Amino acid sequence: MSKAWLCAIALAAGCSGESAWEEGPIGEIYEGLSVGGSGGCSTFIVDGLSKQLIAEQNCIRPSALVSFAGKKGLSIGSSVYPYLEPKAAAGLEAAGASTGISINSAFRTIAQQYLLYRWYQSGQCGIGLAAVPGNSNHETGIAVDVGNYGAVLGVMQSHGWSHSYPSSDPVHYDYTAGGTIDLRSESVLAFQKLWNLNNPGDKISEDGSYGAQTGARIAKAPATGFAKGTTCTPKQTPAPAPSDKLAAKLVAQSMPQTLGAGEAAASWVEFQNTGTATWTPGITHLGTSGPHDRDSALAAPDWLGLNRPASVDAETKPGEVGRFSFFVRGPAVSAATALSESFELVQEGVAWFGTDSTFSIDVEIHPSATTMGGGETGDPTADPTPASMAGGAHGGCSVAGVTGRGEAAPAAGLLLVIAALALFRRRRASYPSGATCRVSVESSFSWSSRSRS
Ligand SMILES: [Zn+2]
Repeated sequence: MSKAWLCAIALAAGCSGESAWEEGPIGEIYEGLSVGGSGGCSTFIVDGLSKQLIAEQNCIRPSALVSFAGKKGLSIGSSVYPYLEPKAAAGLEAAGASTGISINSAFRTIAQQYLLYRWYQSGQCGIGLAAVPGNSNHETGIAVDVGNYGAVLGVMQSHGWSHSYPSSDPVHYDYTAGGTIDLRSESVLAFQKLWNLNNPGDKISEDGSYGAQTGARIAKAPATGFAKGTTCTPKQTPAPAPSDKLAAKLVAQSMPQTLGAGEAAASWVEFQNTGTATWTPGITHLGTSGPHDRDSALAAPDWLGLNRPASVDAETKPGEVGRFSFFVRGPAVSAATALSESFELVQEGVAWFGTDSTFSIDVEIHPSATTMGGGETGDPTADPTPASMAGGAHGGCSVAGVTGRGEAAPAAGLLLVIAALALFRRRRASYPSGATCRVSVESSFSWSSRSRS
């Protein structure tokens, strides 16, 4: 059905279907799984390593890749890392502002490309074409694969995107309006640096070129990520006067209670600034705690780092309420897994805020029973993205001590997501404001981990 539909809109595009590839089932994940040992037909199996590689690339060149998550008109498949080079992201956002675009692939890590190329070479997983790792435009953040590629052709072209291979790879668009740089060697370098950091007895050249030496290490690398993540911490920024007092009180939040592996949910938390220092984007961050700066399993590609979900959305003066918006993403799991992680506010280069800003996210992760829904093609009229990407589906606003006030949230959230899906199918991160459930608490709390079904 969907292929026939695609053939219809592809018109003279050939429609061989050879490159009409989509992410298949995720292989089994277990402790010690290597990239080379990965089964299944989904690149999501290397999600843990991929997150580290993206973070490392932004260590090498800060803001080399920027997120387009949550922008108007852009529907993002659940296996997609919503990153592009800044110019390409701006071009995509401009196109999305005038029409709905279904993005099935954007930035791709070298670990993902390694799997695609391996499957292509061995004739597995229906891969018709895959570039040698380090050679795909997806690895420099200037390419996207579009589900409804035919319907958006004119809009994409008018915003700098070329439909490069209408016959052989119809879903693929390249940003060709200039202002971009080739990051492919840095995507290789990111792996080489992480490998050396974690394997001091087996160091390889940090030359940014993919060859047998690097390929062999990618095969041996842990699919779920190295023990040591990035080689840098979030960029340190000028600190406010040390005499300013930092203090916060939790006001409200919305977080998922359940997530599928690879499913991402728009989330936020709000704190009142009860200190005397102004909170500033780029300085005032949400960070992992228990212990501080650990890597989070819930990190989504829009995070500042594996230990930093978000910066405060806007400048927040004493007395004002500041919001921290970010996605929470289910990691790859082999069985239903309950995760509980704690976070605190941190003024970079100054101090963690202390116990009044500590909170935890409790979420149950379910293995994905079906395919990832983030493939290169598919019925563009179908909804490829988990409902929770629309925000509000999770509706988790229960706070310990005031649970009675939070109880209405799931029902309200469900109604809102129905409305959101009907009206804003393509606006994944436009958060229905009615989905909030404002509550006040004195200090520490945790979210309910009630199941939705
Ligand atoms: Zn492509």
